Amino acid sequence: MLEIRDLTVRYGAFTALHALNLSVQRGEIVVLLGANGAGKSTLFRTLSGLQRPAGGTATWQGHSLTGGRPEQNVAHGVAQCPEGRLLFPELSVEKNLRLGAFVHRRDPAGTARELDRAYDLFPALIEKRHAPAGSLSGGQQQMVAIARALMARPQLLLLDEPSLGLAPLVVEQVFSAVQRVNETGVTVLLAEQNAFAALSIAHRGYVLEGGRLTLEGTQQALMTDDRVRSAYLGV
Ligand code: ATP
Repeated sequence: MLEIRDLTVRYGAFTALHALNLSVQRGEIVVLLGANGAGKSTLFRTLSGLQRPAGGTATWQGHSLTGGRPEQNVAHGVAQCPEGRLLFPELSVEKNLRLGAFVHRRDPAGTARELDRAYDLFPALIEKRHAPAGSLSGGQQQMVAIARALMARPQLLLLDEPSLGLAPLVVEQVFSAVQRVNETGVTVLLAEQNAFAALSIAHRGYVLEGGRLTLEGTQQALMTDDRVRSAYLGV
């Protein structure tokens, strides 16, 4: 499981995360709801080993994630799909995918197997495999970004705002793809502002406000919570 205890992250004098406690069991999809600036990306950067915490711990399957070696976190089974996708727009879809395998896996047979798995999960990418990633629609680019993160064969996928900038129908397609990924055994921690779409696929969730977790509950409890409904569901 992912276990986060008293995790505090500061940028200079500013505290972005205040002694966070959060856990994700293997096999779960857990959503982290929060507005812009709540600290979602800071948490993900910390879990990826890109940002050192000022205090506290984060472990996945007992391995510490806070030592500050991103490639080690990937080797321990944790991969991030960053906000804004960060694809190489001029490179083909397949080259983008291969880059996801590069850090971790250099054997050609393994990479070929992961590519096959990626196209199985995202069949729409097959006919686009030689197209520049930047020529794809927003939803397809998000699929490429997720598939690229999966090329490292993670056990835990950190997914930062996959619905950003996508039309509602496309958001639905992306989230159903996330659900398929989860069904292959990948645990998912999903940061989102789009509470409705995210909660529709999540088992549990947390609300992050100003760097503090203010609420946690099951999918059902959060969907029906008045604070969530007024802040994130627009009702
Ligand atoms: P968004 O969805 O807009 O990315 P977020 O919930 O991911 O929001 P973070 O990007 O984690 O939020 O930012 C949390 C807080 O930390 C914000 O107040 C932000 O201004 C601040 N912050 C983020 N990165 C830095 C940095 N490198 N230096 C100083 N402050 C930062």
